[in-house]
Amino acid sequence: MATPDTTLTNLLDLDREGLEAFLGGLGEKPFRATQLLKWIYQFGVDDFDAMSNLSRALRDKLHACAEIRSPEVVSEQHATDGTIKWLVRVDSGNCVETVFIPEDGRGTLCISSQVGCALDCGFCSTAQQGFNRNLSLAEIMGQLWLANRALGCTPRRERIVSNVVFMGMGEPLLNFDNAVKAMRLMMDDNAYGLSKRRVTLSTSGVVPALDRLSQVCDVALAVSLHAPDNGLRDQLVPINRKYPLEELLAACRRYVDAQHHKAKVTFQYVMLDGVNDSPAHARALVRLLRDLPAKVNLIPFNMFPGSGYRCSGPEAIERFRGILIKAGLVTVTRKTRGDNIDAACGQLAGSVDDRTRRRLRRLVVKEAVR
Ligand code: SAH
Repeated sequence: MATPDTTLTNLLDLDREGLEAFLGGLGEKPFRATQLLKWIYQFGVDDFDAMSNLSRALRDKLHACAEIRSPEVVSEQHATDGTIKWLVRVDSGNCVETVFIPEDGRGTLCISSQVGCALDCGFCSTAQQGFNRNLSLAEIMGQLWLANRALGCTPRRERIVSNVVFMGMGEPLLNFDNAVKAMRLMMDDNAYGLSKRRVTLSTSGVVPALDRLSQVCDVALAVSLHAPDNGLRDQLVPINRKYPLEELLAACRRYVDAQHHKAKVTFQYVMLDGVNDSPAHARALVRLLRDLPAKVNLIPFNMFPGSGYRCSGPEAIERFRGILIKAGLVTVTRKTRGDNIDAACGQLAGSVDDRTRRRLRRLVVKEAVR
């Protein structure tokens, strides 16, 4: 990997305010930020000389002190269903994964917010990788930038990425500032111009950060619920021990109330055979979500080596869905995409230099029980 020139400011690391301040430091007017945002994000340009509406003098200044540098793509895999997965190097020891999922009439980019994940959900492959660090703004925006470049859609109206979901590696609310800056850029008309309903933040339930989010950013919200009671959720999503269901659902309610569009919250529920998939669980889920504008996404569990869980059978999933639908809850079973390249939900592993030593601890436990 080429060593980055640390004397240069990477413009992907600046939000609009940051870009305006940076240009101000060069003696330039704030409207230059709009021009730069368009070149970078709508036209996918990384060469200042191609920015034809900037003066020669400004281009020279930018050459001397700035760059536009996305993380490097290590590999690009194509699944039989059209899903594309990029392994993206963010530094000499770490890679994250980004996934593009084409569907009828839209293209969803699933991006990572952290190198690994600090939470320890037992059914998630990213969790097994441990955690290293938060991604910078440039590393988050860089995933969208490089996907657009790779998909070959530079002029804005021909763009193929129509939706962005923070459902890759990491917990975006634990990288709050950069996630918020990234979402604002994604929705900025002069950058990507995505609508609020097409940017989704997914969280396992970091309640104080969710409240902060409702104050600063209006995006679609997805919550990884996975269990209808605290006993089970404590096991499956350990952050529940800190922020139990009552607190999480109250925060979801506050989020909806603070939103302009009052959109429904999507509750994600991974279907684990014999663990959370009985009719009693479904009925408990109905009671839990009764007073919220909610819809439910059932996610068939995606296997990965050493997970110890199995996916519920199709009949169990249908029965579960039937109970929810009968109770009036909009419920869809998510189609598993990209699984022949391990790009499905919870299969993203990247390559994490694990500072938590979680992987090592798991190996030791496995050896001990052998
Ligand atoms: N940390 C955030 C963002 C990750 S989103 C969150 O928890 O919401 C990834 C989604 O895939 C989450 O809903 C997660 O719970 C789910 N998931 C994780 N592992 C999975 C697996 N093996 N099979 C199916 N879904 C999984």
